[in-house]
Amino acid sequence: MRRLLFKNLVRRPVTEAPPARDDAALAALAAEVDRAARRRLGRSLAIREVDAGSCNGCELEIHALNNAFYDLERFGLRFVASPRHADVLLVTGPVTKNMQEALSRTYRATPDPKWVVAVGDCAANGGIFAGSYAVTGGVSNVVPVDLHVPGCPPNPMELLTGLLALLQA
Ligand code: SF4
Repeated sequence: MRRLLFKNLVRRPVTEAPPARDDAALAALAAEVDRAARRRLGRSLAIREVDAGSCNGCELEIHALNNAFYDLERFGLRFVASPRHADVLLVTGPVTKNMQEALSRTYRATPDPKWVVAVGDCAANGGIFAGSYAVTGGVSNVVPVDLHVPGCPPNPMELLTGLLALLQA
């Protein structure tokens, strides 16, 4: 026991190093998204996240947009609790059959004009869950998709770049 305690004291942590912080690039990208949203909508962008059966890896990256590191609200981007208040649906996961109806209803509840962003490889075509009896195989099989952000999972900067591409389209 003593040996284990000593080993843990001198051993380096087994976790990965945090990503390098590039505040200037983040601020420039988030400000650009905010400018594009105001040009297109006349206000900031409201985002509703829908987990349609993901492994939660994509959610961790989406949640990171709100943490103290990225802190997106300072740029006027905000996540909303209801699709009725949203401009964009960020949808993750291969859309399990249990979530199919919920996703359709969420889409119908979102006011026009609205965009759907499929986040992650599973949302594009089922990803590692493709072929399972329990999934529909991608968001576009259930609701129209305007943009796909690839990755497993995509990181916060890639998510922001995707939102910007959407607003500039
Ligand atoms: S794309 Fe990867 S991280 Fe995202 S839900 Fe699928 S398996 Fe999980």
